[in-house]
Amino acid sequence: MSKEKKPLPDDVLYNKNLRAPVKTEINPAPKARVHQREWAKIMNGDPVEINPSVGSGYKIMTVDEWSARWKRNDDFPDCLECGGKKTKEHHFTQTWCRGKKKWESELLCLDCHSYSWRSYSDPDFMTPEEYEKQRWESLMAEAAP
Ligand SMILES: [Zn+2]
Repeated sequence: MSKEKKPLPDDVLYNKNLRAPVKTEINPAPKARVHQREWAKIMNGDPVEINPSVGSGYKIMTVDEWSARWKRNDDFPDCLECGGKKTKEHHFTQTWCRGKKKWESELLCLDCHSYSWRSYSDPDFMTPEEYEKQRWESLMAEAAP
């Protein structure tokens, strides 16, 4: 337990060494597709599906109850709307390709019930497919008479 975890170097962390601004948005409902339908039900007071790991069936839930299993992202704890820190991250993705990164994060604020969106892409980020396409095109260009 006393062994200290060595911190990871900044260049392997998604939220460090950023080379472009983080895009932000505040929305009254999820921007990420995940949970959009459930959120609409919660707001309507309609029952939503119980997490399969705790039970089965449907139940009318409060926002707190529904989001109980989500964790706060301590890299981005602040709500962009009210500045509160009672937030839970419900969506996070990151993609790395050849050392370049791209990520998305969305938080729900339990105080004001707004969704804070943050997304980032290195300016020269390419997906593996885009990279392959570009490499192929430059090979073709070189081969051209
Ligand atoms: Zn808030």
